[in-house]
Amino acid sequence: MRAWEKNFRKVEPYVPGEQPKLDTMIKLNTNENPYPPAPGVLQAMKEFDVDKLRLYPDDKSDILVGALADYYQVDKNQVFVGVGSDDVLGMAFLSFFNSDKPILFPDITYSFYQVWANLYKIPYETPALDDSFRIKKEDYYKESGGVVLANPNAPTGIYEDLTFIEDILQHNQDVIVIVDEAYVDFGGKSAIELIDRYENLLVVQTFSKARSMAGMRIGYCIGNKDLIKVINDVKYSYNSYTMNQTSLYIGVEAVKDEAYFRENLAKIMEERERTIVELKKLGFTCTDSKTNFVFAKHKTAPAAELLEMLREQNIFVRNFASNPRISNYLRITVGTREEMDSLFTAIREYVM
Ligand SMILES: *Cc1c(COP(=O)(O)O)cnc(C)c1O
Repeated sequence: MRAWEKNFRKVEPYVPGEQPKLDTMIKLNTNENPYPPAPGVLQAMKEFDVDKLRLYPDDKSDILVGALADYYQVDKNQVFVGVGSDDVLGMAFLSFFNSDKPILFPDITYSFYQVWANLYKIPYETPALDDSFRIKKEDYYKESGGVVLANPNAPTGIYEDLTFIEDILQHNQDVIVIVDEAYVDFGGKSAIELIDRYENLLVVQTFSKARSMAGMRIGYCIGNKDLIKVINDVKYSYNSYTMNQTSLYIGVEAVKDEAYFRENLAKIMEERERTIVELKKLGFTCTDSKTNFVFAKHKTAPAAELLEMLREQNIFVRNFASNPRISNYLRITVGTREEMDSLFTAIREYVM
């Protein structure tokens, strides 16, 4: 071992879903939206003045923060934007979880929470979901360094209503509670309406899923202005210019087109319900997902085999081999009707 190696930061990194470079494939493995971003995004992209790239972007991301503040009817000082919600969440962990007490998040949830906790040396505990993959709220009725919940949860897809979130907030008034709402637009109700009543609540959302813009990397959080100030101070201590010129201009357009957004969501939710019906006919059990993916387990065929069989046909889905509680489940993104039909055909030929 070289002398300097003892000073390295050694971390177990997050492993993102695969991004295969194939011309034809059905990509149902990273919960991307199968439909394009709003038409205004394309227009703004065409009209974007490349000369602007000479200049640093607005460090305050004012136009995008303003568009989101208008959309959610909050103040600009209650909004923070970042390079995808991963950036926002990472920054939030760094900003708000500096207690010696462990933070709490479920044993089955977005696996990045554990990675940030390790990276920033934040102690954590992971209370187990119950047998039907529901969060046991009593597990969060104790002293901690903070709470992080994805709602709907990932990869289970299960949504808890705002009464549940309020109950968690009632029992955790001395720490920051982060609610990660990456999937909330697919059938849940946002906790943003609670931020004025709970000054310790931070709600995180993203443009990657419901707004079809995973490639642009835009995420945001909404909360009390004092929390937003703290997270901004941390951002300015790390990188003042996180948001590039294009994301700022184009992000605004994605927020403007509410009609397109609603239509896109409706199509995906309808296809999700059809997918659950079809998968059940093929011998799967599925959770009651309120997201753009289904979480499904076959009665006989192991998940790893199904995943391999599908991959050979250039259909990509995801599994979670390292977690024994869910290692036999597949997480399948809801694609277009045609894509899902191809998936059903491939599975039917294999299991029937
Ligand atoms: C996709 C996802 C994110 C991160 O999305 P970004 O692309 O970084 O905005 C965060 N949390 C959950 C639960 C997700 O599924």
